[in-house]
Amino acid sequence: MSPQTGPTTPFREAVVDLDAVRANVETLAARVAPAAVMAVVKANAYGHGAVPVALAALDGGAAWLGVADLDEAFELRDAGITAPVLAWLHGPDAPFAEAIARDVDLGVSSIDQLRRVSDAAAQVGTSATSSGAKADPAGAADPAGARAAVHLKIDTGLSRNGVPPEEWVEAVAFAAMLEDQGRIRVRGIFSHLANTDDDADRAQLAAFEEALAAASAAGLDPEVRHFASTAAAVRLPASRFDLVRLGIGTYGIPPYGDGTTAADLGLRPVMTLRACVAAVRRVEPGVGVSYSHTWRAERRTTLALVPLGYADGIPRHASSRAEVLLAGRRRPVVGRIAMDQFVVDVGDDEVAVGDEVVLFGDPATGAPSADDWAEAADTIGYEIVTRIGHRVPRSYDGAA
Ligand SMILES: *Cc1c(COP(=O)(O)O)cnc(C)c1O
Repeated sequence: MSPQTGPTTPFREAVVDLDAVRANVETLAARVAPAAVMAVVKANAYGHGAVPVALAALDGGAAWLGVADLDEAFELRDAGITAPVLAWLHGPDAPFAEAIARDVDLGVSSIDQLRRVSDAAAQVGTSATSSGAKADPAGAADPAGARAAVHLKIDTGLSRNGVPPEEWVEAVAFAAMLEDQGRIRVRGIFSHLANTDDDADRAQLAAFEEALAAASAAGLDPEVRHFASTAAAVRLPASRFDLVRLGIGTYGIPPYGDGTTAADLGLRPVMTLRACVAAVRRVEPGVGVSYSHTWRAERRTTLALVPLGYADGIPRHASSRAEVLLAGRRRPVVGRIAMDQFVVDVGDDEVAVGDEVVLFGDPATGAPSADDWAEAADTIGYEIVTRIGHRVPRSYDGAA
């Protein structure tokens, strides 16, 4: 074994290319203009790191940030990010008063939530809220309370959250009343697509148009109407309205699962997952590899051990199916992927402990894509990147 000289490959690492985030947002923003872009940075920016990705996306032209729950919104505010942030998934005890005090827009999916948001708004700035008490050590009450920025969500056919269509007329009437009382402002109206097929998407679009008309009839005049996530934003121009919510496209992963590549969409993969070879061994024909010996060497060959496993989010379903880039070529994963490690067959080629192994990254470098891993594991690219675990340090390339 040669002494270590020059740069060494990290044991495990997810390299996040912030220039690619910026470029992807710029590309998609140009495509959807004049609609504005909300960069969706929920789930720690799909595993990439919420705050650095949010900053790069804003730099690339995103006007809004979107997250699922309020803790994710507060993380952005804690980092000093002042751009508009929308959070849309709330439990029964969601801290709406803190959200209102911290200028986080609230996606609202039921009449009951509308009531709770309005009650919370009435408390903001009074001694009844902890955030108000903190912001105002003298404890002086503001009897006027605050006005919550609300985005009303209509369920147009996904059947997750969103106001059910049969309750929509009542919901918009109630919202209009709360707006008159100064408790809320209906800043947005939105919905989310099932991405089923073109006909189903268009039916949802028609239901959304109908919901907008009912809201308008109730006297609501939202600043932003938004409907499309990445898939529809790119392919269905009629779905763009005032704002599109771009998650997966921001990360340079195609949403379609139909063989369309990132390059086809003008996007650059953001995450490169890599590790260094932890061990190398030469084995004889017939040797079984990893748990249950689901794979055996058919000839004398060299095996390289990669220190990443399902605890790091590497899907066990990709055992003996996925490939990695090692020593200049794609190499097959052989045998079961274990909790911490898996094995790659390199044939008769030279590899050494410390060599770089790229699981996925930009296919232009010869590496598999996150989508290639998704295919090997029978899932989608979204799941591959979001599941990369805490044991894998993220490092950032490109100007933050
Ligand atoms: C996650 C999410 C998005 C982003 O979807 P992509 O397919 O990743 O672009 C948009 N809107 C809502 C409501 C979401 O939950």
